[in-house]
Amino acid sequence: MHRLAEDLELLDGFPPFSVNIYVMGGVLVDSGTRFALRRIVRQLRGRSLTAHALTHAHPDHQGASHAICELLGLPLWCGAADAPAMETAGEIMARMPPHWLTATVGPHWVGPSHPVSRRLREGDEVGGFRVLETPGHTVGHLSFWREQDRVLVLGDVLANMHIWTGLPQLREPQRIFSLDPAMNRRSASRLAELQPRLTCFGHGPPLRDPRRLLKFVSRF
Ligand SMILES: [Zn+2]
Repeated sequence: MHRLAEDLELLDGFPPFSVNIYVMGGVLVDSGTRFALRRIVRQLRGRSLTAHALTHAHPDHQGASHAICELLGLPLWCGAADAPAMETAGEIMARMPPHWLTATVGPHWVGPSHPVSRRLREGDEVGGFRVLETPGHTVGHLSFWREQDRVLVLGDVLANMHIWTGLPQLREPQRIFSLDPAMNRRSASRLAELQPRLTCFGHGPPLRDPRRLLKFVSRF
């Protein structure tokens, strides 16, 4: 585990930063694909967690969620509008834009459905962070914002990695994976305007430069 800020850690992964999982004030945020279970359990050994939350219900963020909640007895929290996808078998893949790549890889990564104990909405508190509704990539996509030290965990609203090369690069999520790319841009602009001192992504290394974010969204 790698400490990024107070009460915010990033789990190690391979390749580094490819699929990020965080522990945020005792809450496990996202769970990678369904192959991530061992990686999570190994790194969480000896820690007490209170809940497992999702930025959004996509196969590379909820893959191990059912298994980890069962194993550690954690309640699952996610965005209110993504909860039906998380709770209904087959619904996560059904909600993704149709594309051969999604149809090929998604079914291997996606995790089983699981009951959602808490449907998160704008303004809720999770692990010391405030919930921001940032729809577009999925309908119920959430970001987590901590004003006091300006730390942002933004899921897949933006990525800091090129999907094919794996090199760090600030980008929009691939359009083939986003339900509504225009709406996602509006969410990205809203987040950039917060001028986070530290931005943590679902994919790619953390960014400690609020001007880069602002410059990026100014091109939309
Ligand atoms: Zn993702």
